Amino acid sequence: MTDPLHILWYAIDAEECMFSADDVASSDGLTALQSLGILKQPENAIQISCPNCADRHVADIMTRKGPSETIIYYIQCPDSLYVEIPATLLAQWTINFDRLAQLLYDELKLSGHAHEVVPGRLWRLGKSKWQGADRTFYFWRGPTWDDARQIAVKIGGTGRPVILVADRAPANNVWVGKARPVVSLASVAALEGIELKIDAVQVAALVNEVDIAESEPKATTKLQKQVRAIIKDEATDEILVAAYIKHHSYRDAAIALSAERGVPVSKDQVGRAVNRAGGIRAVLRTVSSESVQRGVASHRRDKPRQS
Ligand SMILES: [Zn+2]
Repeated sequence: MTDPLHILWYAIDAEECMFSADDVASSDGLTALQSLGILKQPENAIQISCPNCADRHVADIMTRKGPSETIIYYIQCPDSLYVEIPATLLAQWTINFDRLAQLLYDELKLSGHAHEVVPGRLWRLGKSKWQGADRTFYFWRGPTWDDARQIAVKIGGTGRPVILVADRAPANNVWVGKARPVVSLASVAALEGIELKIDAVQVAALVNEVDIAESEPKATTKLQKQVRAIIKDEATDEILVAAYIKHHSYRDAAIALSAERGVPVSKDQVGRAVNRAGGIRAVLRTVSSESVQRGVASHRRDKPRQS
């Protein structure tokens, strides 16, 4: 037997999530979903796929009076012109998302007010306290559809969100800023009898994994910054002084260095470096020193001489 939850997760991420009476009748699992309240019967179907045609074209359902006040349902078909539709085919089932959200809320022991953020697409389920911090749980239907970025914006970054999806996760580039932890229900949910169970330990592990991965690049950046600062400190004085010798002005040296190095250098930085090197008179005495001249980052003036 196909796992009914597998059908459910698949159907949730399909734009058209309707089950026919036949689908439901042919699967014990769908009956379980029905008892859970996850499947509901919408208002009477107003359209149906033609049961006579291979292309299953969709047509409006029409009615006419049959013998002894019965109602006959039919569609107009380009091929057979008139196709009668048995009443049993009209019974369709769709997913009751409010009920699914409720089940997720209960099973994850969330608190707070649940509400639908984007109709039929995004639900803010509630909060849960994890390791001393509140995490806000969302359920996102269709995270791989074209409008993923617009929906992702609605989730935002506050409340340390955890996003539940049916099966497929959104692309990494839908997030502004860091990636949010996404948990696929297909990997953490199971049907036990007629109860939907979620492996909370597994959810926590998956979320932790993302949290750690997201904090690592930050650590690297911090380290890189420190390394860069050290390299800069060592190089700075020599380069600042050399630039001063070249330009004979703190200000001009600062402008030239800023342009060369792509980071802002102030005239005060140049001045302090010159002072550390013994002051203006001391550094200008080294003007003839080739080694300091070579220390100047720009060699544009030197080039014609070299060629
Ligand atoms: Zn047809």
